[in-house]
Amino acid sequence: MNLTTSVLDAIHERFREIFGDRFQSQVDLNRYTSARVGGPAEMFLIVNNAGELQAAAELAYAQSIPYFILGGGSNILVSDRGVRGLVIFNRAREVKFRSNGINVICTAESGANLSSLARQCIAKGLGGLEWAVNIPGTVGGAVVGNSGAHGGDMKGNLLAATIWEPGRGARIYTPEELRYAYRDSTLKQEQGTVRPRRVVLSAELQLTPEPVDVLNARANAFTSHRKQTQPGGASVGSMFKNPPHYYAGYLIEAAGLKGTRVGQVEISNKHANFFVSDGSASAEDIRALIAEAWNAVREQFGVEMELEVELVGEWEFGN
Ligand SMILES: Cc1cc2nc3c(=O)[nH]c(=O)nc-3n(C[C@H](O)[C@H](O)[C@H](O)COP(=O)(O)OP(=O)(O)OC[C@H]3O[C@@H](n4cnc5c(N)ncnc54)[C@H](O)[C@@H]3O)c2cc1C
Repeated sequence: MNLTTSVLDAIHERFREIFGDRFQSQVDLNRYTSARVGGPAEMFLIVNNAGELQAAAELAYAQSIPYFILGGGSNILVSDRGVRGLVIFNRAREVKFRSNGINVICTAESGANLSSLARQCIAKGLGGLEWAVNIPGTVGGAVVGNSGAHGGDMKGNLLAATIWEPGRGARIYTPEELRYAYRDSTLKQEQGTVRPRRVVLSAELQLTPEPVDVLNARANAFTSHRKQTQPGGASVGSMFKNPPHYYAGYLIEAAGLKGTRVGQVEISNKHANFFVSDGSASAEDIRALIAEAWNAVREQFGVEMELEVELVGEWEFGN
């Protein structure tokens, strides 16, 4: 960002006027990401409701400041050098339920925690989100990445999303407009581009009444399957998307890479698509291990895997 110090000071002052000490400079992001890596955000702001989220993105856009929405930080790898511009940490978490006589519609602000919401729905006897009981992160992150598990995904629940678009304002999007595919959407495709991105403010999710014990049994089965198949530790979950006709974990395992280490991060012996650490790895260690896995799978099987996670911030190779 090539702003003079006085312009930057004025921008900081404006954010402080509106958001008080929830606006800060040089905040380390490692404690906001599930991989426990990430250098400082040049500017960091906590928003507590969808109105503030929109106002923050609008203000950043109007001042030509690059902005990034941080949900649970569970599908991103933030560089050790950190992030230029403004990181908006989304804590807009209001959740409301209404019935249309047959189904129940949940309106959740985008910073609502997805797994907590899934458990809240189960406790209310509302089915549909059990697949999400163990997925970390926010509703907004799941709307962007079409998160899913155990045969369910966000596409299957989403009725509509309220999304703010730079220079155009907020409007309601249908799932069709978001062009959902496996871990993909039009919003996900904005990742890695330089143009300002759209911001998910809230989502309407469809739920169906079901007995609580049935829902609990389903959720418990998902949880025990996950415990058997996935490792603990600091990670971003699945590192790569499953390529067509393959499982990424199988390809990495078949390439002989289970247990391979770079610095403090290791390809899990339990599930080779999980790169785990004790929380002391650097982002650069993880990126080097990504490169090793990608190259080995390409060389041995001719498959070019696609990252499921987004690399955020300033990287050596430039992005
Ligand atoms: C242990 C573990 C297990 C996991 N298991 C699964 C799984 O089973 N299935 C699955 O699909 N995923 C899984 N994940 C990945 C991750 O939890 C999901 O992708 C999650 O939905 C990401 O949400 P988030 O809030 O953490 O997003 P973040 O990581 O904070 O952000 C991801 C992207 O979404 C953007 N974004 C976030 N919120 C908004 C918003 N409001 N508006 C616009 N853009 C936004 C960010 O800018 C970024 O580009 C797992 C991760 C971990 C660590």
